Amino acid sequence: MRTAVAAALLAGLVATAAAGPAADAQRADPTPVVTPAPAPAPALQRLVATAPLAGITIALDPGHQLGNHNFPRQIRRPVPAGGFSKPCNTTGTATNSGYAEATFTWQVSRLVAARLRALGAEVVLTRTANSESLWGPCVDYRGRFGARVRARLEVSLHGDGARSSGRGFHVIAPVARAPWTTDIAAPSYRLAKALRAGLDSRHLPRSTYLAGGTALVRRSDLATLNLSDVPVAMIELGNMRNASDARRMKSPTGRATYAAGVVAGIRKYLGR
Ligand SMILES: [Zn+2]
Repeated sequence: MRTAVAAALLAGLVATAAAGPAADAQRADPTPVVTPAPAPAPALQRLVATAPLAGITIALDPGHQLGNHNFPRQIRRPVPAGGFSKPCNTTGTATNSGYAEATFTWQVSRLVAARLRALGAEVVLTRTANSESLWGPCVDYRGRFGARVRARLEVSLHGDGARSSGRGFHVIAPVARAPWTTDIAAPSYRLAKALRAGLDSRHLPRSTYLAGGTALVRRSDLATLNLSDVPVAMIELGNMRNASDARRMKSPTGRATYAAGVVAGIRKYLGR
């Protein structure tokens, strides 16, 4: 709602700016001369301040890196994962036609970031490129990232690589495990449920191959969740090995739908 009000106010400002030169009836040339109106600084500042997500920092984690498979030694290196160690990262999965999970998560994350920024949020990503010549970051870095950038929450985006007959999304929240996640388990579970509601609202199918139709799972084996000190959830947006999910993931319209669902979930969690 507040966005609509802001847009209406902005339209009003633009209309006011255009009204000045149009009042000059002496000019023979009908080409409108646009004289910039005095900068409406206070009004614009008010608009920025009333954007729905103004003042909120959100961490996004586009899972994997496209070049991980080119750096097996770096990727296999064990890193802390919350009381145990795990490999730095994995190569991620792909559709049967070779569309990589890293590229999918990168593309959806960029859409999510753009929408959140348009709503006034500050958005920080765990990686800033999708390249065959790059690897990482490791899962411990991804887990600690949200606190490092003082984010209100972190969402990690993935695509699953399950047997091809199953399809649909599921959201993963951390298990409460002292001393790692006891502080964030409850808000993370609320975040996971809000993300599920957001994806539901865009009519994205829930997972048919796990979680008994709830599309919600709690796991204790993921460093990205275990090492977070801000509310965190991971989403497997679909099964890349399933033909129907793969079709949606490969299409710009499908990716926009995933992004809209994620943004709706984040807004629901924040109550904005
Ligand atoms: Zn993944």
